[in-house]
Amino acid sequence: MEILSHDILIIGGGLAGLRAAIEAQKAGRDVAILSKVHPLRSHSVAAQGGINAAFDNVPAPVNDSWENHSFDTIKGSDYLADQDVVEIMCREGLERVIEMERWGTLFSRTEDGKIAQRPFGGAGFPRTCYAADRTGHNLLHVLYEQVTGLRIPVYEEWHALSLVVAEGRCIGILAFPLFEERTVPIQAEATILATGGYGRIYLRSTNAIINTGRGCYLAYQAGLPLEDMEFVQFHPTSLFGTNILITEGARGEGGYLVNVKGERYMERYAPHLMELGPRDIVARATQREIDEGGGFEGQYVHLDLRHLGREKILDRLPGIRQIAMDFAGIDPILNPIPIQPAQHYSMGGIPTNVDGETPLPGLYAAGECACVSVHGANRLGGNSLLETLVFGARAGRKAASNVNPVRNSRGMISNGVKGEKGDFNPLAFQNQSAAFQSGLHDLSSRKEGEPCFRLRDELKALMTDQVGIFRRESDLLSAKEKIRELKERFGRIGIKQKRLAFNNEWIQYLELEGMLHVAEVITEGALARKESRGSHFRTDYPERDDEHWLRHTFAYKTPAGARLEYKEVKITTYPPKERTY
Ligand SMILES: Cc1cc2nc3c(=O)[nH]c(=O)nc-3n(C[C@H](O)[C@H](O)[C@H](O)COP(=O)(O)OP(=O)(O)OC[C@H]3O[C@@H](n4cnc5c(N)ncnc54)[C@H](O)[C@@H]3O)c2cc1C
Repeated sequence: MEILSHDILIIGGGLAGLRAAIEAQKAGRDVAILSKVHPLRSHSVAAQGGINAAFDNVPAPVNDSWENHSFDTIKGSDYLADQDVVEIMCREGLERVIEMERWGTLFSRTEDGKIAQRPFGGAGFPRTCYAADRTGHNLLHVLYEQVTGLRIPVYEEWHALSLVVAEGRCIGILAFPLFEERTVPIQAEATILATGGYGRIYLRSTNAIINTGRGCYLAYQAGLPLEDMEFVQFHPTSLFGTNILITEGARGEGGYLVNVKGERYMERYAPHLMELGPRDIVARATQREIDEGGGFEGQYVHLDLRHLGREKILDRLPGIRQIAMDFAGIDPILNPIPIQPAQHYSMGGIPTNVDGETPLPGLYAAGECACVSVHGANRLGGNSLLETLVFGARAGRKAASNVNPVRNSRGMISNGVKGEKGDFNPLAFQNQSAAFQSGLHDLSSRKEGEPCFRLRDELKALMTDQVGIFRRESDLLSAKEKIRELKERFGRIGIKQKRLAFNNEWIQYLELEGMLHVAEVITEGALARKESRGSHFRTDYPERDDEHWLRHTFAYKTPAGARLEYKEVKITTYPPKERTY
């Protein structure tokens, strides 16, 4: 059996993965990136509105500071974020964004040539740096250039199937190159998960189809807990019908939300910040308007940009205009855009410390799949791109410093022979490889198996209907029951394709396995949390309850489902207060 080997293996070619790779490579380690799609197709490329950093670059300076940014983030999180970690993100974020500028990001500019900043939801100051409405596209291309320049190898269209753990340590992964007839063990001193979100377990989601949460499941399956998974962000403005995102930047530039009666309904929900209230509040207000008869055709409201004028729309929101024209046949210069809320972001994930270390030695995580806990119960727009850069870099740096450079240099180890890498455990890799191969054999020999897509579609509809923006005990209990039933039926799925190469059916089967477990963790966490905080809103417990619930949820995998434990929230400067806007 051939075993590939690297000092540091990074799973994920989005912003977090690429930023980690650059840092680790610069520290002199042998680094490789593995991604199930070409890195430039990662969901990061779709980010629109911008990235937060308190530069105070607006025409009349308002004395913005990283401390203000911290406060807004903590208040936005409904006081569930760990405050010491938020401080690190807001302070180091300034450096990370400047670095992206120096590396060549085409940020939009102020009249005097500084990085332009727009207002964003829940932010007291205009601090969201942007490249028109294609910020993620610009950032990801710039990082990919750096990765290419540093000659960091990328295993493109390779899937991480599982983590390999021996003697309490992650020693690498089992991988599957989509176009080959084999699975491949990759040994690594450090493995960094940067696998993004799980939005596609919901029917209505702004996320890329590839965002299935398999990365979170790899960690969960290996015995790690998942943290704060009940906090799922819903974005107020996705295009009605396809749920493609219409950036918060559209409201940052001055767009209005209007119901069927022509009212700017945010007046009733966030009288001061109006359309620029934080996402949880604007999403709930919008869904409530629709549910209570304020929607057009009972299904959507309008995002009106017409008063911004042609020039501003073309200059600041060209991508949004194109999306509205291509996917709804509407030119926002002339007509309002029909929008409805949709799942958007995962606040929870694999727990890490500020250096990306997880509770499993040898395993690190960064970006949307991780929960370093900067977003708490609700993320502010523009903070996620920042998180990927700050904590991606930190994870890369820490992994590099933990790897012993003397013992490890690039090398390939064949037939389980001990190579230059010293001790390693070929048996652990061989066992997993054999288990996957025989699993595929069993699956493809089932004659009467149910098709995978049927279960997947049922799961997605269930999550949107019963574990969505508004939650209540009866729905959550029924969702829990239904997920159990789906897990049972999962054991009877059959697939037609027997061969490994290009076996997308098999990949979908494996991803569905992860989706079912992640959905279960979200549902169990939401059922247990008898309060409303940030994105988690219980109609039967509409108030925040700091006495009992100012704490993080940790879910562990057991045969009977998720077992929940809780951990204190770190409060440094800002004691919890009522959250009004
Ligand atoms: C439409 C949209 C717009 C957004 N706009 C903004 C914005 O303006 N500002 C902001 O701050 N945030 C925004 N966000 C959120 C932000 O873009 C994401 O949270 C962030 O980009 C995630 O980056 P990441 O590197 O963690 O993961 P991703 O960019 O999602 O990358 C995940 C990577 O993991 C790989 N991968 C996953 N599973 C496997 C596996 N099993 N094997 C191999 N590879 C795997 C994928 O191939 C991919 O390369 C937006 C999100 C969406 C959906």
